Amino acid sequence: MGLAKDDLHGQYAFFLDYTERVEKNNKLGDLREFLIRLFPEVAKHIQDENKALFLDKLSQLQFEIGDIEFGGQYDNYSEKVLFSNKYYQWEEFDNCFILYHELMHFVDRYIDGTEQCLTYNGQDFSDIEDSAYNGDDLLVDSFFAEEGMADLYVAKALSKSYDSYYAACNFLTTMEYIYGSDLVEDMLFDRNTPRKFISLLQELGYDNAKIVKIMKDFNAYTYDYWDAEPVSYSFEDVLVDMYQKKIGSDWQKDPLFCYLLYNQTRAYTPDRSFSGNYLHSEIAEVAEKEMAEMRERCAAINRTAEVFQEEDDPEKSHAVIFIDGVLWLSERTWILNEKDEYDMEIHLIRYDFENETLLEHKIADMLEFPENLHKEYLEKSQEQ
Ligand SMILES: [Zn+2]
Repeated sequence: MGLAKDDLHGQYAFFLDYTERVEKNNKLGDLREFLIRLFPEVAKHIQDENKALFLDKLSQLQFEIGDIEFGGQYDNYSEKVLFSNKYYQWEEFDNCFILYHELMHFVDRYIDGTEQCLTYNGQDFSDIEDSAYNGDDLLVDSFFAEEGMADLYVAKALSKSYDSYYAACNFLTTMEYIYGSDLVEDMLFDRNTPRKFISLLQELGYDNAKIVKIMKDFNAYTYDYWDAEPVSYSFEDVLVDMYQKKIGSDWQKDPLFCYLLYNQTRAYTPDRSFSGNYLHSEIAEVAEKEMAEMRERCAAINRTAEVFQEEDDPEKSHAVIFIDGVLWLSERTWILNEKDEYDMEIHLIRYDFENETLLEHKIADMLEFPENLHKEYLEKSQEQ
């Protein structure tokens, strides 16, 4: 899996600077290969004026294995990607997903400069008198977008399936379906993601109090310990409003949108208190009927594509991901190999929801990270 010429997005000189920084930084360890693999996303989204800062940060970035609570963590104060000493022994693909996720946080932080504009009650924080600032709870951040973004780009580039933050990933994918991938990418790679998201909510006619509460609720779904207040708004309600504003009132007649809503209702992690939260949403009553149909549809897709073995949940929904503009349903299954170990298989399905037909079903290529990926690429490109 090397980088192809298109992956450089016409930025060969920047690629050389980038790889030089990566090679000269002896604190990067195993992150080197991943940073090269990540280059296409950086090249696609960075503006010229932010390149110097990004390269500097690349020189400061460090990789460290230690005793941490989660699999991985990006610490932007010390510019460190921390990786759990417990996970390090795990399967290669798990490690790949975690490291790539943490590096996406690094990219997200510096790709558009560093000056972040926090928002206060839906207005720019910079416009607010100092006296109006009264503690952290008045600041509005968008952790759901940060975590969703990191995982969604792991999915697009490597895992072709959701790894964690399933609800945030499905929400962003449904936004891609409604608004198009370009708008969502612009929002996520902007240094003021919260502000861009807020302006979409303002287009829906929401007032500032509702917007602030939505942001807090969405963050609470993402880090359930973050906000002790009871949640008031669900992802589903906002998605239906977005659909009605952008596409039209007949969301119930759009089977793909209903499928995405169905996924959203199943996306809250079962061991968290938000499981089945959609029942509290404004559309719950209407949605019940659609959800029953979607359960049927899931079972039908799974039967047709023969993704799951008998004992698996026949109604199991799939992760939905846009990869290069094509929408895929995806699911992980585990196959027992000759050594009595389980190998992961990632099924990718293209499905025509209008005509209820299976268009394509394939197993995604498994991950390989050859040593010196970038050197291979350089040698290849010099031959051309
Ligand atoms: Zn994260």
